Amino acid sequence: MVEQHATSVCPGEVETIDLLAGLGRVLAEGILADRDFPPFARATRDGYAVRAADLALVPAWLEVVDEVKAGDWPEPGVCSVGRGQAVGIMTGAPLPAGADAVVMVEYTSLLADQLAHSPAGKLAEVRRGVSVGENFVPRGAEARAGQLLLDRGRRLDHAGIAIAASVGKSRVEVFRKARVAVLSTGDEVVEIDATPGPAQIRNSNSCSLAAQVQNAGGEAVRLAIAPDERGRLRALIEEGLGCDLLLLTGGVSMGKYDLVEQVLGELKAEFYFTGADIQPGRPVVFGSCDAGALARVDSGVAAGTRARALAPHKKYFFGLPGNPVSTMVTFELFARPMIEALAGMTPQRLIFLRARLKAEIRTKTGLKRFLPAVLSGEFENAEVELARWQGSGDIAALARANCYIVIPPDRERIEAGEWVSLLMQ
Ligand code: AMP
Ligand code: MG
Repeated sequence: MVEQHATSVCPGEVETIDLLAGLGRVLAEGILADRDFPPFARATRDGYAVRAADLALVPAWLEVVDEVKAGDWPEPGVCSVGRGQAVGIMTGAPLPAGADAVVMVEYTSLLADQLAHSPAGKLAEVRRGVSVGENFVPRGAEARAGQLLLDRGRRLDHAGIAIAASVGKSRVEVFRKARVAVLSTGDEVVEIDATPGPAQIRNSNSCSLAAQVQNAGGEAVRLAIAPDERGRLRALIEEGLGCDLLLLTGGVSMGKYDLVEQVLGELKAEFYFTGADIQPGRPVVFGSCDAGALARVDSGVAAGTRARALAPHKKYFFGLPGNPVSTMVTFELFARPMIEALAGMTPQRLIFLRARLKAEIRTKTGLKRFLPAVLSGEFENAEVELARWQGSGDIAALARANCYIVIPPDRERIEAGEWVSLLMQ
């Protein structure tokens, strides 16, 4: 089934999958309540279903006429609460007719065999009064039958899965995952199972990006490493543009061999921005190529890729800087929202937390900084401090960190004890 998602970049293709495979997927359908929630007035405590007015004066003695446990249905006329009566009730059981409150078992004691005419043969002593409506949830109070519980465009988390399960959706309609090509560039970069030469480094970016892509709900397609050579780089970029989104790393700085922007220019790319006033990540670029034009430019791409490149919409790309920390930060700030949009998700703002700074920070002004940091402590005592690091190439520092401290561009000194914003890793 294919349908167009009107105002977004989402390709809009829909698939129906098992609910449990739906974690992290974006709903292509709204989830409605199939009946009232709760479907009956539901006791929230163990105790007795009572008429609140019978407990205006306490202690009071009520005749226990029946018992309802979770899963029982108290048939009106068979099981109900009359004046001076009570029905034993368990959490999750339906409130019997006639009752308007539940008194907790903790405030009662059972007096056995005191009334010959009592069907249950028991009296309960109740030591506390209750208000009408106490200790049960009325039918339909959480949601009415037909009410929208989860919006289309919502990413399924465990709570969303619980909701879908509770309305009987064992299969759900979701948008197809965005396919995201990951292309590392650089003559010095080798595959991770290769033994690097003295000046070579392993392609960690391709792996961290693939993980981040998956985490953002996309499907990563890792391409071969592109050398700093125009022809091969162009062929791989064209291959990557066959996916919904292309992420390039490396080759976007101002160096003599930073060819990414040049090659994209040859492909008639439109650049939305080249560079951002942030650190790390300053050279990040974002743009698109016209898919129709792409198919026309001369290329040595595989036939399948060419066919896909004919799709009549734009192909977006990010050029992320090659330094591993820069790559990770720019992914979170720029690429993640794009992947979510491509997967049909309603746009969300990035979530920043705040915590108190443990030790003073001094930086230069001019750029907004995202510095690896360690958040520790708990609840109201959370504190954060910079991780020791050697700059944007330091993956080891990132492994010690669990967040980034965000420093506004106009601050050169932030004192210990000040509140700072955090971007979580
Ligand atoms: P570039 O952005 O190409 O100038 O690269 C900046 C730094 O990141 C250099 O030190 C590169 O060696 C390093 N780098 C580039 N690509 C990768 C990669 N795929 N994995 C790990 N480090 C990389
Ligand atoms: Mg490079």
